[in-house]
Amino acid sequence: MSSKTNLMWFRQDLRTFDNTAFAACCEHARQNHAGVIAVVYLTPKQWQSHRKSLWQIDLILRQIRALEQSLSQLNIGIIVRVVDDFALQATDVLELCQQLSISHLFANLEYPVNELARDQYIAQQAQSLGIVTQWFDDSQVVAPQRIVTDKGMPYKVFTPFYKRWLAMIETAGLTLSPTPAAMAINTTQLAKDSRNTNDYITIDAFYRAYLTPTAALEKQLNHVGKLAQLLYPADEAAAQSRLDDFLKKHIADYNIARDVPALNNHLGATSRLSPYLAIGMLSPRLCYLKARQKLNSQQGLGSEKDIMRWISELAWRDFYYDVMVNRPDIVKGKAFLTPLDESVAWRYDLADFESWYQGKTGVPLVDAAMRCLNSTGFMHNRLRMVVAMYLSKNLLIDWRWGEAYFMQHLVDGDFASNNGGWQWSASVGTDAQPYFRVMNPFSQAATHDPDASYIQYWVPELATVPANIINNEQKLQTYLTQHPHIAYPTLATPTKISRAMAIDAFKKTS
Ligand SMILES: Cc1cc2nc3c(=O)[nH]c(=O)nc-3n(C[C@H](O)[C@H](O)[C@H](O)COP(=O)(O)OP(=O)(O)OC[C@H]3O[C@@H](n4cnc5c(N)ncnc54)[C@H](O)[C@@H]3O)c2cc1C
Repeated sequence: MSSKTNLMWFRQDLRTFDNTAFAACCEHARQNHAGVIAVVYLTPKQWQSHRKSLWQIDLILRQIRALEQSLSQLNIGIIVRVVDDFALQATDVLELCQQLSISHLFANLEYPVNELARDQYIAQQAQSLGIVTQWFDDSQVVAPQRIVTDKGMPYKVFTPFYKRWLAMIETAGLTLSPTPAAMAINTTQLAKDSRNTNDYITIDAFYRAYLTPTAALEKQLNHVGKLAQLLYPADEAAAQSRLDDFLKKHIADYNIARDVPALNNHLGATSRLSPYLAIGMLSPRLCYLKARQKLNSQQGLGSEKDIMRWISELAWRDFYYDVMVNRPDIVKGKAFLTPLDESVAWRYDLADFESWYQGKTGVPLVDAAMRCLNSTGFMHNRLRMVVAMYLSKNLLIDWRWGEAYFMQHLVDGDFASNNGGWQWSASVGTDAQPYFRVMNPFSQAATHDPDASYIQYWVPELATVPANIINNEQKLQTYLTQHPHIAYPTLATPTKISRAMAIDAFKKTS
């Protein structure tokens, strides 16, 4: 092996296309007649403490195998290593660099505070060992801390951030990194020899080897193992073809369809690209550029609003990363509006929380959405807002419980977006919803699921109940009392009363 081997460390960027660090690594190797070897880490204990869901771990494992195939076409081998956590990861990667005589280590940045600290430590240690480290911004369209106010301050509200985000892209332009060609030196066998695991072939094998599944987890493992490949196929080509398909068939109606969860087999007509963006299987810049291309080709055809709306969602993702980087205390459980959050008398009622996450609250839209999440690892955006508000406002349960539950079950679990969505819903985040604005889950259902088909699909107990009754709180309570054979809970506290109690609890903080 050449003494000038470059190491590409894949993290939340499991792709070869438009991968900034990977492109730079290959180009550097090409210019120096060096080989490239890749490494990826599985960190079971760290993932457990970060509540990474089985769905997402499963997708990562399947994508590593797909990545291995793509890399082998480029003569690049990938080393799969398992270490418990980030601390051991730092030691291991430095040892690996020495064992393989690595001269240059390339990686894309991960922005949560512990990850940044880990990388800083690695950079310092590597320097003392004579290894050059190079870190890149990659996971956003526009990297965190680039969009600032005229006074150089971070934005606290989305809309002005978004305007500047668009302006910056227009002025600076956006280019994709070149796709590397095959390397002259083949490292595939060396990489295989440097693995310390083969137990990542299935989620089941991985769990059994490194974590102890409880009885409940056993059931979930089985369920995920059967469904995940169908719902979230791995491979970059699958992610890109979902993007193309969405741009071709659904984006033209996005502005309206994005709020109708029953569309597309009860999973919604949004792109469902979030699982791929979350683990870096798909480039966010490619999403932006392809949508923009579509806009240019459709100018005047009436879908500008829809396309721009979708582009703005990509900007929300960047915005929440920006917030997280500017306010690292958020990663430690603090709210953006810390004093307000700390003055609310959040409840910690296990029975109420359990009925929420099991989808047995007696509020049909909330229950349908939670069952959809439990069954598929995905929930439509509007419903995420509805269930988050129901938990944090009507039930006044600490939003952190809901945030944690979501991370544990979402295939697209992403700290910044999840935390941002929960804080927004609980009125303690950026763009904070005034606390008195509480979505009524029955009127939300009447507007966005008027024929109750989404509800009836996920809550089959209500399959025979007419939609106009399901979506009317009082009528539903009367109906359930008159039809006791329907095994669906009546509401202990009407939403009008729980809403008033929540508003009162927030009022007491002022
Ligand atoms: C309480 C709550 C929790 C959430 N948790 C997560 C999470 O863990 N991971 C996650 O990716 N998104 C999260 N979101 C944001 C949003 O619900 C999902 O990104 C979206 O539903 C994914 O579906 P899609 O890919 O079809 O989105 P599309 O509507 O097709 O949007 C395209 C992309 O834009 C981004 N995006 C869309 N809406 C938002 C948003 N509100 N905030 C940030 N990015 C957005 C996503 O990357 C998405 O894939 C959360 C929202 C709420 C209210």
